[in-house]
Amino acid sequence: MSTILIVEDEKSIVDLISFNLRREGYEIMEAYDGGKGLELALSGKADLVLLDVMLPVMDGFEVLRNIRQTSSIPVIMVTAREEETDKIFGLETGADDYITKPFSVKELAARIKANIRRIAAQKPQSGGDTYGPFRLDRSLQSITKDGRALELTQREYDIICYFLARPSQVVSREELMEKVWGYDYYGDLRAVDVAMRRLREKLEDNPAEPKHLMTKRGAGYYLQF
Ligand code: CA
Repeated sequence: MSTILIVEDEKSIVDLISFNLRREGYEIMEAYDGGKGLELALSGKADLVLLDVMLPVMDGFEVLRNIRQTSSIPVIMVTAREEETDKIFGLETGADDYITKPFSVKELAARIKANIRRIAAQKPQSGGDTYGPFRLDRSLQSITKDGRALELTQREYDIICYFLARPSQVVSREELMEKVWGYDYYGDLRAVDVAMRRLREKLEDNPAEPKHLMTKRGAGYYLQF
């Protein structure tokens, strides 16, 4: 059973989400401000965080920034306005997904399910595999380049794993959205491009002239070693 941490200051929204997610079989933890949300997110007891942007004490972006310093727990940001969504795309927030208010409980449940399933698909396996300068250790969920650990979000790790299983094979943005994000309808393909740009900054010596994570114009992306 998965535990969802809801960080949201509007009690009526928390109650509505809690009620519906409990009915779906999830355990629920609740926090009504950013400080408490951060504390619970790092407690190791939650499997996924549903994080509102507008929060007392510390806003959602600040909470996420702090979470990402030590944790790759999946985070779905809840935004109220277009500008907040733009901020998620524009900044390196490290969010795994986002949902815009007002949202249907059904859509939210689908998002949560997709993100939880993605994590479950990454069951630890022992040993490590080497791909050129990269080394993948599934048991530690870590990827190193030239022996140096890359600081990746859960989604970035999933993306690289997906590419590692398909060396030099071009993968379309739609396929990445469907297979890595885990759904193909709600997603915005811009999220793929943003993720790729961020990944290049982590993988490449010179992100402007990538040697590993390549673009095939009009077709998608591929990873070469
Ligand atoms: Ca709020």
